[in-house]
Amino acid sequence: MQDAFKSGILSVNHRSPECVEMVRNTINLLHKKLDIPADYSVYFISSATEAWEIIAQSLVKENSFHVYNGAFGKKWFEYTQKLIPGAKGYAFGLNENLANLSAEIRSAGSEAEVICITQNETSNGTQVLVNRQKIAQNQESLIAVDATSSMAGITFDWTQGDIWFTSVQKCLGLPAGAGIMICSPKALKKAEETGENKHYNSLLFIHENFAKFQTHYTPNVLNIYLLNRVLEEIQEISYISDKIRKQADDWYSFFENSSFKTSLLVENNTVRSDTVIAVKGDEELIKTIKNQSKTAGITLGNGYGDWKNNTFRIANFPAIDLLEIEKLKNTLVQILG
Ligand SMILES: *Cc1c(COP(=O)(O)O)cnc(C)c1O
Repeated sequence: MQDAFKSGILSVNHRSPECVEMVRNTINLLHKKLDIPADYSVYFISSATEAWEIIAQSLVKENSFHVYNGAFGKKWFEYTQKLIPGAKGYAFGLNENLANLSAEIRSAGSEAEVICITQNETSNGTQVLVNRQKIAQNQESLIAVDATSSMAGITFDWTQGDIWFTSVQKCLGLPAGAGIMICSPKALKKAEETGENKHYNSLLFIHENFAKFQTHYTPNVLNIYLLNRVLEEIQEISYISDKIRKQADDWYSFFENSSFKTSLLVENNTVRSDTVIAVKGDEELIKTIKNQSKTAGITLGNGYGDWKNNTFRIANFPAIDLLEIEKLKNTLVQILG
């Protein structure tokens, strides 16, 4: 932050050559470090929530299909319904693997212009494998993927989705207030067909701006600067992903092999998230764990939605280092052991 301040970048106009250069460089770094295909476009937006709305307004004329099992996927569906009354939803169970539900889901979504899935459901600590063949019956459908709490933490096969998005406060470890949206050529083709041009954040207008490495709004320049610095520092995603997946395995074994009076919220180990570990217990115990961790200087993620009071969540994000993980494990052993 001090470097950003000293460099003067915080005072420049967002259409100035300095800012354009920084945006260009940051997008190149995203392609490189996250291994994003060269023909996929990268845009900065304000938040992941904004991506939900951009998709509904610019890529759907009549129907989208939302397959979800938690609070974020449901919210996305509900926001879309306000703009697209024909949007359909399909809720699946916490311990169900999307791959095994495919026949039913595929036919229900066969008319959808966009099929919306939440790769990592932050509210309950589940994840799905994004696979075009398994999700879409109609290969014309676009696949939109909310990867807010997993992008930059684990690897994806980008070609399996057409719209991917995240916000910077999760796996990128930055202050909240900026989002990243990534679109395939197929998504852009659909945007052109739809021709929607009524909003400051209409996808075609966003694309026009980014062709010049400019944003469609006055962006959080500090966050773009910080994103640039973080991307310069981090390893390639395949390396980060191996580490995060191994750490997740360690967390799950830690709880499974313990005699703690807690249990893992997600019983099916094939759908457990790599980046968000959700732990369940009775309300009193969960309250004690949250309070005592706080006293030890660790802020645990609260439960969310239906699991607000009887779960807590551990962020297995790349910015958290081994010492911090050890500290949390020791604290949990002290409270629960
Ligand atoms: C955090 C989160 C969001 C919302 O992100 P904002 O930056 O608050 O818009 C959306 N979806 C998922 C899965 C999330 O984890």
